[in-house]
Amino acid sequence: MSDDRHLITLIVPAYNEEDVLEPFVCAFDGIKSALPGHDLQILFVNDGSTDRTLSILETLSDSRRDVGYISLSRNFGKEAAMTAGLDHAVGDAIAIFDADLQDPLTLLTEFVRHWENGYDVVYAQRTEREGESRMKKSTAWLFYRLMGKISRTPVPPNTGDCRLMSRRAVDSLNRLREQNRFMKGLFAWVGYPSKAVPYRRAPRVAGTTKFNYWKLWNFALDGVTSFTNAPLKLATYSGFSIAFVAFLLGAWTIFKTLVFGEAVRGYPTLIVTVLFLGGVQLFFIGVLGEYIGRIFSETKNRPIYLVDRQVMPTDET
Ligand code: UDP
Ligand code: MG
Repeated sequence: MSDDRHLITLIVPAYNEEDVLEPFVCAFDGIKSALPGHDLQILFVNDGSTDRTLSILETLSDSRRDVGYISLSRNFGKEAAMTAGLDHAVGDAIAIFDADLQDPLTLLTEFVRHWENGYDVVYAQRTEREGESRMKKSTAWLFYRLMGKISRTPVPPNTGDCRLMSRRAVDSLNRLREQNRFMKGLFAWVGYPSKAVPYRRAPRVAGTTKFNYWKLWNFALDGVTSFTNAPLKLATYSGFSIAFVAFLLGAWTIFKTLVFGEAVRGYPTLIVTVLFLGGVQLFFIGVLGEYIGRIFSETKNRPIYLVDRQVMPTDET
């Protein structure tokens, strides 16, 4: 083995992906011949699939040594599945790809090229999202803009999890053991020289998306709460401004009563003020709750995932 030959591990989280695994491995073979100078292997992470995913993975890993898998004890979510992969992958460089081929494997050649030129993190940045609703596109856009504004480690826009990382970037990432794993944020937090590779995101080759709006909303909440305290500060400042306005209003009311001797009245103003303040208070109690809930889950310090069984790929071919 010559010195500039490296091992590259592809991590592929898979949750009920029975229809796409074989096309994925075919695409992998294609890319393998496009990168003859390196050893490539796949480490699938079966995230508690309920379909034939696991048995297909068993067959695949039996028949070839460059395919292995980790099977988690249940569905832990994509973020935990990727973490499991990153913990176990042994490559000199480690890439993450979705099983559904939405992020084309051909990106890998470019990833490797930039990595060889010294970048630690090379990530795919989508210029177009095919097969996704307008609603999903615009909410995603809004979310990344908001995050960019309020967080101190801005997440690059239009970037998914698809990326290649050097050994040292992965080792650094693996040191972040928090429970609320907003991986896009963790990737950004780690830093190191990074390079974006623009691409068109294709629609899934088969199967359906595993994310609905409720999941995405909770994902967004995780993202915001684990990377910024801005919502808590918002409570402080809005409390302060409301108190200030209330003070002015109070002064004006006293003045009016003294000068004009106006009678009581003002029921509508009263009820509006009470409801408004009640609403603002409940909202910020909710915000506090989001943070406290996350503190609660961090303090329990449970493992991020549990492995049921694993078959590791080997690097000799
Ligand atoms: N995934 C996973 N666990 C989950 C949900 C999804 O491992 O609980 C995997 C899924 O198998 C796929 C990737 O994460 O490889 C992206 O999922 P999907 O294509 O459903 O998301 P989208 O592309 O629609 O954002
Ligand atoms: Mg997908």
